Amino acid sequence: MPKTQFTWCFSILMMRLVLLASLVGIARVSSAESSIVTLGTGGFTGVYYPAGGAICRLVNNERSLHGIRCSVESTGGSVDNLQRVRDGDLDLGIAQSDWIHHAYQGSDLFKSAGPDTELRALFYLYPEYFTMIARADSGIKSFDQLLGKRVNVGARGSGQRATLDVLMRLYQWDNSVFSEALELDPAEQASALCNNRIDVMIYTLGHPSGATKEVTRECESRLIALTGKPLKELIAKNSFYHRAIIPGGLYRGNREATPTLGVMATFFTTSEMSDDTVYSLVKSVFENFQRFRELHPVFADLDKEAMVAGKFSIPVHPGALRYYRESGLLKEP
Ligand code: GLU
Repeated sequence: MPKTQFTWCFSILMMRLVLLASLVGIARVSSAESSIVTLGTGGFTGVYYPAGGAICRLVNNERSLHGIRCSVESTGGSVDNLQRVRDGDLDLGIAQSDWIHHAYQGSDLFKSAGPDTELRALFYLYPEYFTMIARADSGIKSFDQLLGKRVNVGARGSGQRATLDVLMRLYQWDNSVFSEALELDPAEQASALCNNRIDVMIYTLGHPSGATKEVTRECESRLIALTGKPLKELIAKNSFYHRAIIPGGLYRGNREATPTLGVMATFFTTSEMSDDTVYSLVKSVFENFQRFRELHPVFADLDKEAMVAGKFSIPVHPGALRYYRESGLLKEP
């Protein structure tokens, strides 16, 4: 082969190799990007964190089938998750039904951010209870007796802080009605209560929970009922709330049932996530449901139909709907 022809053939070969290498490179980057999903949960002592861990574990167990790797991140809770999913900082999150509703509508705390119409539900997880726990020696028996007391109103970004603010507006209270209003993280509350730094801690979470077990075991403390006409009206007006009763006997020193406000812990993403990815995520959980139920005491009574058939205040992701219809969990077309 003449030298010029050889050089020409060689350069074509090189160009092809470069092209091939770059295509392989592109394919590798995009599959790596689309295969890692990050799930925002809550504090280490809550139920969101282990709930997210359980979801990711089931997804990762089937990684060879769908190529998705799910990783959990500890966060400040519902409001934080909704903001960070909107910012594209997280792909998935767990949030209370009340704050999902407000984020989608651009109402209440989300007024200045505006509506986030890209939000999509995957499924409900479990009921959460607005849980107030008071030192037994504080004598507090009801919500109005919080007046003049040392209360951990909680950290901003958490669902309980945001929901407490709603309740306080209902009673026309601000933080000055308390002798002290602290903004401690959920993980700091139990020791603050037992060390007598606060009279009341507040957490919206599923039961039975490790955080509630710990505090009721460590010091004499009581769950406080939340009842009354304003609350009844609030629940009647908003479908994302419900009346809830924390069963008696779950925790030391608390034999009576405790009526309070309930919301639903909801697993969500945005319309940005592909139908195939969402389909695989929900399939991994629902096809390994018995295992899922065993991963946390709060999941023990979960029921597949109830998790998908409830009335969500945001649209359900089409990838999730595909699985629910295909598996017969949802009957409509
Ligand atoms: N419901 C709480 C929140 O939205 C979190 C509860 C938990 O971590 O289990 O911040």
